[in-house]
Amino acid sequence: MTDAYLPPLSDFAFSAEEEAAIVAAMLEDSPWDKVPAAHKDAIKSAKQRIQTYHLTRHNHQCCYCRTILHGGGYFMIDREHVLPKSIYRPFTFAPWNLSVSCKRCNMQFKKDCVAFVIDADGAGPDDTGANYRLVHPNFDAWDHHLLRTAVQAGGNVLVKFTVLTGSAKGAYHHEYFALKELEIDTFDQAQGMEAIAGSIADQIRKLARQHGQAN
Ligand SMILES: [Zn+2]
Repeated sequence: MTDAYLPPLSDFAFSAEEEAAIVAAMLEDSPWDKVPAAHKDAIKSAKQRIQTYHLTRHNHQCCYCRTILHGGGYFMIDREHVLPKSIYRPFTFAPWNLSVSCKRCNMQFKKDCVAFVIDADGAGPDDTGANYRLVHPNFDAWDHHLLRTAVQAGGNVLVKFTVLTGSAKGAYHHEYFALKELEIDTFDQAQGMEAIAGSIADQIRKLARQHGQAN
């Protein structure tokens, strides 16, 4: 399978010290959150490095909605477990099951939900995007399913999400993360500049039509 993002996931490796710490953490009830004191620093380093790696792969954007996370820090960025760690414990530290998302996508929509997995019992390291109804942050290319168009005019950022023609996955993803809500929010913020916003919105619609069906 071709990795849609750079650097490729196959290039990531935990250090020997991090590996040992992960093995020790996996013996705990909550391996992600409760780590033996002796391994605290190594786990912290493992989490930080995997976060940086995934942020680079997704150009410092949320892997689900493409919100820019650059400089977001603790209050904005979640280390995201695609298959929830509460259910899929063995994949708690698996790089293929990890990514970076905004708090909105993780806390409001993903949570411990597994409705987006087609074969939930068989999900694991041999998965491809075919086992996921949503656009998987490691197995699927987001840009093959959705288009996010953003235009900044003064202090206002106008955003439009378009499901690319024929992408059932893109349509599911759009619905699952209520991406339409993000559009409404941003257009509401553009009050008082309707004329400019209107003409930009026209341009965005035109662009969206060229790429697929507008939602
Ligand atoms: Zn998001």
